[in-house]
Amino acid sequence: MDITRRDFIRSSLLMGGSLLFSPLNLHAVSKEAEEWRPAYEKLEKEGKLVERIREAYSIFQRCRLCPRQCGVNRQRGEKGFCRAPAKVMVYSYNPHFGEEVPLVGEHGSGTIFFSNCNLRCVFCQNWPISQEGRGEEIQDEDLADMMIKLQEKMGCHNINLVTPTHVMPHILNATRMAWKKGLRIPLVYNTSGYERLEILKILDGIVDIYLPDLKYMDAEQAAKYSSGASDYPEVGKKAILEMHRQVGVLQSDKNGVALRGVVLRHLVMPNRVAGTEKFIKWVAENLSKNTYVNIMAQYHVEYKAYDYPEIARGITVQEFLEAMDWAQKYGLVNLDPKSVMVRKIFDRRRTD
Ligand code: SF4
Repeated sequence: MDITRRDFIRSSLLMGGSLLFSPLNLHAVSKEAEEWRPAYEKLEKEGKLVERIREAYSIFQRCRLCPRQCGVNRQRGEKGFCRAPAKVMVYSYNPHFGEEVPLVGEHGSGTIFFSNCNLRCVFCQNWPISQEGRGEEIQDEDLADMMIKLQEKMGCHNINLVTPTHVMPHILNATRMAWKKGLRIPLVYNTSGYERLEILKILDGIVDIYLPDLKYMDAEQAAKYSSGASDYPEVGKKAILEMHRQVGVLQSDKNGVALRGVVLRHLVMPNRVAGTEKFIKWVAENLSKNTYVNIMAQYHVEYKAYDYPEIARGITVQEFLEAMDWAQKYGLVNLDPKSVMVRKIFDRRRTD
């Protein structure tokens, strides 16, 4: 049977929007989860978290928080490539049920969407937030209160910091404030992967779950679609190795809810622009084959992508299936279950 693009989109949406196929069966907080403690708590009890916050804020004076290394004085309100102001800006905070299954659990992943971005891709789906900077400037105390609300009122399993790189000092400060008010769930550092090693070392012992993208394997593509960031593939690979060194492969509680580790994302793009085979081979050879990898099928044309003919369409069924075939070929054994389910549906239809 032929697989149509409409079938493909329908199945992808079904998998992305539903937990019908989730292995989770969560009706109570497990004892293990109750006894579990986040990394930042240990650091705070050792008296080291405050030092990290000072170190992070000192970087703002000549900002080099990310590989752009603009050198502007963020504390005085000077703006660099990311256009971020002195205060932290937030667009929204909510439980999110479209993230990877171990992050979502029963009550959702507590996402906080930060305004602005240090990478600025031409196909960004969140472009009003990341590129136009929609959102509100708030104090670090307000950010801490959002974290507490996500945990206490909404029952989220983690604090999912979306595009955190350019506001990392605010996040650390707010985390300490929130810990004093009872924050006990893991931080998820949800990043494009465009991170400096020196900065990630400040996060060692604070972040429990890293959720990075590895978007491209080729400098030319990275420069073309991500605002001149030709160093993205090399920088991103080094960053992910450091994240893996810090927290290792994903560990979950007995209900399947993530506690610590790396969840790696890769968006399949049209015309093999993302270098998906190279990405999968790199993961298999440089990280564990048990690394949790989400091979994402949801690319769609957004923002300025219409100006680039090779990415001005969605991906085909065949482009998604070849990515999943490569994952099998190189031996990755911990793929996101929603991707695996989509593949099974189309494999069945391919043989009908
Ligand atoms: S965080 Fe922003 S200002 Fe700082 S180096 Fe990166 S792009 Fe420049």
